[in-house]
Amino acid sequence: MSKAQTFDKTPVPPGRSKKKRKSRYQARGRQATKADLDAIEKILPPAPYQRDLLLEYLHLLQDQYNQLSKPHLTALSEITGFSLAEIHEVASFYHNFEITEELDPSLNAPIKVCESLSCALAGAGELYQDLQSQIPGSRVKKAACMGRCQSAPVVRKGDTYLEKATTEKVLDQETDVKSENSILTLDDYLGQQGFSTLNQLRSNTVSSQDLIETLKVSGHRGLGGAGFPHAVKINSVLSKEGPRYLAVNADESEPGTFKDRHFMNSNPFQFLEGMLIAAELVDADAIYIFLRDEYADTRQILEKSLKELADKSILGNCPVHLRRGAGSYICGEESAMLESLEGKRALPRQKPPFPAHVGLFGKPTLINNVETLYWLPEIIRKGADWYTQDGRHGHKGIRTFSLSGHVKKPGVYTAPAGITAEELINEYGGGMKDGHTFKAYLPGGASGGILPASMANIPLDFGTLEKHGCFIGSAAVIVLSDQDNMKMVARNLMDFFEDESCGQCTPCRVGTQKASQLMQEQDWDLPLLEELSEVMQQASICGLGQAAPNGLLCLMKYFPEDLA
Ligand code: SF4
Repeated sequence: MSKAQTFDKTPVPPGRSKKKRKSRYQARGRQATKADLDAIEKILPPAPYQRDLLLEYLHLLQDQYNQLSKPHLTALSEITGFSLAEIHEVASFYHNFEITEELDPSLNAPIKVCESLSCALAGAGELYQDLQSQIPGSRVKKAACMGRCQSAPVVRKGDTYLEKATTEKVLDQETDVKSENSILTLDDYLGQQGFSTLNQLRSNTVSSQDLIETLKVSGHRGLGGAGFPHAVKINSVLSKEGPRYLAVNADESEPGTFKDRHFMNSNPFQFLEGMLIAAELVDADAIYIFLRDEYADTRQILEKSLKELADKSILGNCPVHLRRGAGSYICGEESAMLESLEGKRALPRQKPPFPAHVGLFGKPTLINNVETLYWLPEIIRKGADWYTQDGRHGHKGIRTFSLSGHVKKPGVYTAPAGITAEELINEYGGGMKDGHTFKAYLPGGASGGILPASMANIPLDFGTLEKHGCFIGSAAVIVLSDQDNMKMVARNLMDFFEDESCGQCTPCRVGTQKASQLMQEQDWDLPLLEELSEVMQQASICGLGQAAPNGLLCLMKYFPEDLA
């Protein structure tokens, strides 16, 4: 029997004749040329290829050619053995990958203008228009928050960022304007008792349970947005058999948030000690750091720092994988980040089960944000009392705010938990910029709602803002003034969520799109927008869709005069 005949064993449904089928031994679809196969093989690491590394392979292609050409994706599929459909599915999901029909060797990295709210307030819209008209033939695009909101507006070309960008600066091809302070070296950090807690833990001078108890007493919470008690999360992971993993969420992409970048860039070893302590506490078999693609400078710092730790035998035996995101806000959602780490589209998972029990590769996983880990060594070294001694208006502890918008001194500030927006602006932000009167603020980035200046006396902390339709989230405070158009602000937020919706569920995918369309009109259909908002809040799978209408609803509730 020939091979072709072996395919012909399907029972024939009644009433249908058995026709001779064409041989399928000739591969179908577009075939990779030898030149394409050679080109891609040169870029990729040697086989075997891991499916979870698909994003890393795509980055290698994108970095080399400024694009993912379809012939190259076909070659990637043939070389790795991954299905071409899956490769396209993943490549087309993430904003920072650009798929082209054919390879265009002349294609340069686009000039991307950040259009998120802090940059929009600083004139990013006009800058975008100006660049489009001034640079004929160039590829000027809009992009989501780049995590440098203190220096708005921001422009990106490849891995180069221009802060406080102007058309002239872009035309002069100026490059990085460094906004970060100097980096604390490993020797400096060791001189400050750095890694002493990790050493005590590894040498059994202190027990894991003692450290977890200290965290519990300190009230330390996850500082990526949800504020879940850290000790409870660790114990939940420990309740399941290993292997276990630690996944570090370094994908801060909530517009207005740039604190994690500050911590990693200024004191990477304190963050890394916290990470290694957390890995010890849950007896992790591997650590995965998911770092947003926009933080190329941070990637270099972490790579160098991890190497220094390995050279000094501080890193230990737990493998550390530094993975690169590819531009997708939804990766900040913990289960979407896990999907991305597995090399897939970042679609949030249905919960339960929660990642603490069924997480990365189906194993119990402790997911911590960068700042959560950053404070860990200090809390343990100095004690729970040190952490709780600060605080205002009945709140305990410290919170790190990313402050941007119309203040004189935007930046990252660690302040007492419970500080009010008014105090934050005046004591840390240097007050309002000249010519601007404080009108409103976003207490928790794009998703945390908008409050009027008359409500700037509310303590900023977990649980204080929910009754007003807002939340603190990642503590990204964006300050608005009397010169801002509030409808434009709400539209900017809704457009962002429309762009970033992963598309998995209808209330969010269609709701954000429809709301964004309605908000382009001169007169807004408020009853319809309210109805849409309710559907998004009630029926979306994850926090993105549930929080997407917060800004709009706050505008309707607190700023009716601005809707006229
Ligand atoms: Fe995706 Fe939006 Fe649904 Fe979340 S709410 S799963 S982002 S479509």
